[in-house]
Amino acid sequence: MSRNEPVDVCVIGSGASGSVVAATLAAAGRSVAVLESGRPTQPDRIPTARDDWERHLFDFFPRDDGSGRIAYAGDNEPGFHVSRFKGVGGSTMHFEGFYIRMHPGDLRRRTELGIGADWPVTYEALAPYYDRVEARLGVSGTLDNPFDPPRGPYPNPAIAMSCAVQRMKTGCDALGLHAAHAPVAIISRPDGDRGACNFCGGCWSGCLRGAISNAAQTYLADALGRGATLRTRASATRLVLDRGGRRVTGVEYLDENRELQLQSARQVVLCGNAIETPRLLLMSSRHDHPEGLANDNGLVGRYFSAHVTASVTTVFDERVDAHKGPNINGMVQDFWDHDDARGFAGGYVIALRNAELGPHYLYRRRFLGQPLFGAALLDALSDTFGHTATLSAYGEHFASADDRVDLHPDMKDTLGLPVPRVRIRHRDNEHAMHAHMSEQLRNIIDAAGGRDSSQATSSRALGTHLMGTCRMGDDPSRSVVDVAGRVHELDNLYIADGSLFPTSTPSNPTLTIQAMALRIAEGMAALPG
Ligand SMILES: Cc1cc2nc3c(=O)[nH]c(=O)nc-3n(C[C@H](O)[C@H](O)[C@H](O)COP(=O)(O)OP(=O)(O)OC[C@H]3O[C@@H](n4cnc5c(N)ncnc54)[C@H](O)[C@@H]3O)c2cc1C
Ligand code: SF4
Repeated sequence: MSRNEPVDVCVIGSGASGSVVAATLAAAGRSVAVLESGRPTQPDRIPTARDDWERHLFDFFPRDDGSGRIAYAGDNEPGFHVSRFKGVGGSTMHFEGFYIRMHPGDLRRRTELGIGADWPVTYEALAPYYDRVEARLGVSGTLDNPFDPPRGPYPNPAIAMSCAVQRMKTGCDALGLHAAHAPVAIISRPDGDRGACNFCGGCWSGCLRGAISNAAQTYLADALGRGATLRTRASATRLVLDRGGRRVTGVEYLDENRELQLQSARQVVLCGNAIETPRLLLMSSRHDHPEGLANDNGLVGRYFSAHVTASVTTVFDERVDAHKGPNINGMVQDFWDHDDARGFAGGYVIALRNAELGPHYLYRRRFLGQPLFGAALLDALSDTFGHTATLSAYGEHFASADDRVDLHPDMKDTLGLPVPRVRIRHRDNEHAMHAHMSEQLRNIIDAAGGRDSSQATSSRALGTHLMGTCRMGDDPSRSVVDVAGRVHELDNLYIADGSLFPTSTPSNPTLTIQAMALRIAEGMAALPG
């Protein structure tokens, strides 16, 4: 096995959380090595620069080499499919940048509703970290949402509402709902060599102007500028402990030639996301940790959460051009805070979207499989393209201990490692919430004058927001990490990604993931070097 120069800190994963941890600890003077199992994206292949961009929507992303394989348990929630990106910048390279804060009550569910778990931090403790992450990413927004928790102004002015979003807002207004601008990690003013959003609508396949504040061009660039080392195609396979079994001494990983390497480090931070982090802990079992590291209480991999989701696409008689503008451009938070009268616990947020992308994408979403050819197909597309608009809702999932990530007993990935097996179920509360959100989406569409509001998708569990599996808490018998992000069982192993969420809350998670990562990294930096 080859050995790299030892470092102070080894960070596993270069996505939303890993980039923040690496930048913060490098700024504090620590030597940092980031291991990233994927490759860099290819900015010169961003498809919106091409005339035939619709045929190359995802060329920007390097192909998965098979190490991203996932197994689903037989009784998994129907339709639940994980969507994430393994590469430099992690899943932020593919995200929509909808950056919302949690509400204070989200963090006290056990105390206030008797379900889920309380977070060991308050909104007030998180707020300064939210402020700083928003400032670094140049989040664009305005204070027109009456449900926002106490906060100051956004760093950049809000991105204007597109035509489609304004049209859906008329429906919200008619119903007395408060449609507000969506805060997004997308810059509305130029910043250095990054251009302001120009409404091109290509967010999912990479932003040609650099307007989206993904991890690669923000915190990871900061980390590399401060001397951190990034090793790509470096898949961590095992955490190495000292003899006593209390301290991590380094990380074994397979390099791009599939040769085993050792990265020694005085501290290790897991930032691989809510599936890969428990997987690595479970793969690192040894004689004194037979069930995996940090897992004496059997909680590693448990309480895996995926938001409840519903989505409706409608058609307006007039053109609304929902292929123009960032994907999420407006929101409604009227159903966020818990209300007994709704008949379910927790709440949800509604996103007003520009998600038409282009004619080919629209064809695949609405007409694929229908016997439409030639002139009939052209007619159908020209009647529809430019006229559709989409609403989506994201809501709280109260995970049980049976919702989990474990290692598949037989299946291996292309590196020969056990494949993570996921199991998630939505129960009565989530079904009631899904029915409520679907009805509200239809009401908005009807009030805005849209057609086909009956086309609510049956989608219920969202595979892009991965949370839970290594819960944070004060009680070592009921959680995996403490409030500082340190695993209870080991002295120098930390977790800073979405796996530490004790509950899912209604919020799109990444702003909170990065705020928590910043808090954890600064706590580490404050310890003697
Ligand atoms: C299509 C899409 C849209 C989204 N839109 C939004 C949105 O609008 N708002 C929002 O809040 N969130 C959104 N998300 C979710 C957001 O991207 C994630 O919440 C966030 O990126 C998670 O951060 P993370 O650090 O936990 O993991 P990631 O950002 O996924 O980073 C994990 C990294 O670790 C690497 N890694 C994992 N295991 C290993 C290992 N063993 N060795 C080495 N490297 C490893 C992975 O390759 C990956 O690069 C979206 C996600 C997708 C897919
Ligand atoms: S709509 Fe804005 S953020 Fe999205 S790809 Fe275009 S310029 Fe970038």
